[in-house]
Amino acid sequence: MPPPIVHFNDPVLRKKGAKITVFDDALRRLAQDMIDAMHEARGIGLAAQQVGQAIQLCVADLRDTDGGFDWELDGAKPPLELFMPMTVVNPEISVVREPTTVYEEGCLSFPEIRGDVVRPDEVTVEYKDGHGTSHVLRCNGLFARCLQHEADHLNGILFIDRMDEATLKTIDAELKALKKRTREAAKKKAP
Ligand code: ZN
Repeated sequence: MPPPIVHFNDPVLRKKGAKITVFDDALRRLAQDMIDAMHEARGIGLAAQQVGQAIQLCVADLRDTDGGFDWELDGAKPPLELFMPMTVVNPEISVVREPTTVYEEGCLSFPEIRGDVVRPDEVTVEYKDGHGTSHVLRCNGLFARCLQHEADHLNGILFIDRMDEATLKTIDAELKALKKRTREAAKKKAP
C-alpha cells in the first residue's frame, strides 16, 4: 500500500531534506512507493517530505498532462514514456530564462486548495536518478514548474510561501481549516 501523504501544517513539510549519498534498493523502493502514492492521488509530483521523510528525493510524472512544454535530457529529447515516472535525487535548479509565468498550482499536501504562483518559465535541473547516475535536464512550462515546486519541498519551502498577499487572502479560511484537521489527526495518532 502506498504511504499516506502528509498534510499542511505537519512540521516535516518545513524540514530541509538531507543530501542522499547511498543509492541502494531501499532508496529505489521508497521512490517506487512515492510514485504509487502520487499516482493514487493523481498528482504530477511528490517530494519525500510529503511522505514524512526529510531527504533530497522527489518523483514526477507528466505523461498525463496536456503537455505544452519542451525538454532536453542529457542533450537529447527522449519521449516522456522512456524516463517517466522519474526519480529525482539531490536536484540543483538554475533558472535559464525569465520571464516568469503565473499558474494556479495545487499540492497533494493541500487537498483542494489552489492558488496562483509566479515562477520562471525555463530551468536547468542537475540531478541523480535512483541509481546515482547524473543527469542534466532542461525544461520549460508545466514540467519546469512541477520540478521547481518539488525542489522547493526538498528545502522546506511550500507553494503558499510563493503566493502574494491577495492570493493568500482568498485561501486563508481553507488553510486554517486544513491546519486544524491536521492537528486533530496528529492528536488522535499520539498515544
Ligand atoms: Zn507540493
